[in-house]
Order: sequence, then structure tokens, then C-alpha cells
Amino acid sequence: MQIEFLGTGGAIATPVPGLMDSMNVKARTLGVPYSRYGPCLFVHGPDLLIDTPEEARLALDRADIAHVPNCIYSHWHPDHVLGRRIFELNRHWGVWPDEPYCTQVYLPQQVAIDARIYQGLYETLSFHQSKGLVRIHELHDGDTITLNDVMITPFRLTQDYAYGFVLAQHKTRALIVPDELFAWQPPSFIHGVDLAVIASGIFEVNPRTGLRRIPADHPIFESEATFAQTLQMVEQIQPRRVIFTHIEAVDMIDHDELQTLGRQLTAAGCYGEVTFAWDTLRVEC
Ligand SMILES: [Zn+2]
Repeated sequence: MQIEFLGTGGAIATPVPGLMDSMNVKARTLGVPYSRYGPCLFVHGPDLLIDTPEEARLALDRADIAHVPNCIYSHWHPDHVLGRRIFELNRHWGVWPDEPYCTQVYLPQQVAIDARIYQGLYETLSFHQSKGLVRIHELHDGDTITLNDVMITPFRLTQDYAYGFVLAQHKTRALIVPDELFAWQPPSFIHGVDLAVIASGIFEVNPRTGLRRIPADHPIFESEATFAQTLQMVEQIQPRRVIFTHIEAVDMIDHDELQTLGRQLTAAGCYGEVTFAWDTLRVEC
């Protein structure tokens, strides 16, 4: 399988309208790898899209992915679901009569419950289903999906409205945790995965200068993992390779600085090979 990073930004993608600091100007003028769409990735092989941020349509077009055979949601938060109108593209409105493409949409157990409460997610998907554009599959915890020889196992995080995924093909295992790592204790069954794709957490300290960026008593630390905490989780998981994603614009660290940090962490030898993702990155696993 191959993982393609369609969008590597966080809740606030990069650039942020109106901000004129060097990171945002670079993202605006140079684009990729400095700019970041909202969080989503596509796994070639199982042909699985994980999450649909606002920029999902643009991301699919940039990646030349004409149709999405399968989609799964990690949780209901707006930055992960608000691009769900992409499924309307399954109908070619200029052709009649037509046979629309149908995307299989998988909702893990709690996501299916939350979809009926938040963001109108279930209502929109049901509308698409009534038009034949998607088919909704509600999963129970413990269920697996097998797509093109890849077994996908969703599992709950400590923030138990959110899910991570293990993708297994033969002896290869990839872990994907798109977001919400706060207070997470990585379970033993993911130890030693070949690849871990994990949300980076908040950079409360600038990794280059060592200066604190966010006051320690900021309420965000009551619900979000820091990058330092995320690194401790990676140390427990012991992956062969780790790729950090869901990189917040408000953390104000640009692509070049992150690549330097990745090399330093790789050299430290505690975390496996460390990379910070950028939009369009493709990785074999
Ligand atoms: Zn998010």
C-alpha cells in the first residue's frame, strides 16, 4: 500500500488569511511544501480516503484521484468532515441518464452516533445515499474491513469519540492516528508497527530556540496533546518509521524547520526514522 498525504494541516490550515508573518507569506507565495490543506490522506491499495476537510475537493484534484471508492471518518470534528460535499462529484451533472459512482462510507461506532448529533454529518451523508452517491456502513467496535487485501481495524483512542486505524497487509502494518491523542496510552497491539502516521500535537515550545510559545496554564493543554507528549507515545510504540501530520498553522513552524527537526530526532535514535509530512508526500509501506 501507499499512503498519500492529501492535506497535512491541522484545524487551522496554512496559510491563514490575513497573517503576514514569514511562514504564512512563504506558504502563500511558494505553495507546497509550505502550504497545507486540512487533514486527510488517501491510502492507495485499499483506495481509502480518511476524513474530508474543507479542501478535500482541491486535494483530490491535485492528487488526480477521480473517484473515491472508500472513505472512513476518524471523528466528527469540523476540520475532518466539512468537505463531505465531495461525494456530490460522484454524479456527472452534465450527463443524463447517468449511473452515479457510489463511494462506500464507513463510520466507526461512536462516529456514527456523533454524526447524528454534530455538524449535520449523518444528514448530509444520508442525503447523498438517497441519491445513490454513497453507501453508509456503520461499524461496531472490533469490526474490521478488508479492502483489496488490506485489513483495516479502527480502534478508539482515550478521547473515545476519536479513532485510530491499523492497516495490515501480509506482514506489514501501518498505524494512522489522524488527531486527538490527548492522554493516549498506545495499546500493546500497535507496538513495533512498520509505519506510524500520527498527529504532531501542539508545539508549546519552539523546537529550534527552546523558547516557550504558549503559556503552560493555557486551557488548550486540558484537551490537546503537546508535541513532547506525542514523542513519548512514539517512544512507546517503537515504529520503524514515524511521520507526523496534522500540523497547525498557529504553531508557526515552517516546513524547513520541521525537516531539520525530523533529521535531529532520527539521529537521536529513540523514535525510528522521523519525518514531518507535507502535502503531496507519498510513502510506500
Ligand atoms: Zn483535527
